[in-house]
Amino acid sequence: MIADMHTHSEFSHDSVCKIEDMCLAQIEKGTEIFAVTDHLDCFLYNDYDIFTPIANAHKAVEELNKRYADKLLILSGMEIGESIRYPEVYQKTVGLTDYDVIIGSVHCVDYKNGLEPYVSVDFSKFTTEEVYEFLDIYFNDLLKTVDDIDFDILAHLTCPMRYINGKYHLGITLERYEQIIDTILVKIVKKGIALEVNTSSYDRLNSSMPDEDILRKYYSMGGRLITLGSDAHVAQNASSNFKVAIEMLKRIGFDRVYYYQKRTPKEIEI
Ligand SMILES: [Zn+2]
Ligand SMILES: [Zn+2]
Repeated sequence: MIADMHTHSEFSHDSVCKIEDMCLAQIEKGTEIFAVTDHLDCFLYNDYDIFTPIANAHKAVEELNKRYADKLLILSGMEIGESIRYPEVYQKTVGLTDYDVIIGSVHCVDYKNGLEPYVSVDFSKFTTEEVYEFLDIYFNDLLKTVDDIDFDILAHLTCPMRYINGKYHLGITLERYEQIIDTILVKIVKKGIALEVNTSSYDRLNSSMPDEDILRKYYSMGGRLITLGSDAHVAQNASSNFKVAIEMLKRIGFDRVYYYQKRTPKEIEI
């Protein structure tokens, strides 16, 4: 059995994918369980109605679960970004208990130009020291998210590297962040927050986020709550690179991954 715990649909601002198309793609890939985890981007709160799309995705999932009941279990979730910077927005989500899974993310970093998504930052204009200053803020925000926010899965740890090294080839290493990454891992193990193996980065980094070294560390600390997430924004990326990710997980010693239903982890042997 395979579960893809992180996908987007037309109810995210950066996807036009119909959930039904994602269903068909997941079935074709042999995936039996997947979660629709559209963005709840707290930093857009003042400009957009960010709650209605999430509610609409939830309704669509309910309908599609009836239609595909014999082939799929579709889970209803959300990916909350920048929750620590907008506590009043985050508070509104706390009561939304109907959801299967809440993914916690940091997508924006408050650097020289103010809060900006790292996907749109031109790192080629950065000095090495500026990249480190940027990453300092990213990791601190992530740590604070783990400390302060109630969520189930920590998404794409080290994600800015997909752009810094994957897109701009700056060859930045993460040695400087070993300690804070260790602290984040220790805390999620203690709090029972799952660590996502995000497979969207195989295209640019030829590795998952986080990479094998960090996953080994997590394992050595007793971390076993692993979820797989394609972070697909288009149907053809459903469950992408899961085979290579599962091989890596087995090599490390993991023998199961998890999916979340009603915010409770359930295991799957790999
Ligand atoms: Zn994300
Ligand atoms: Zn995502």
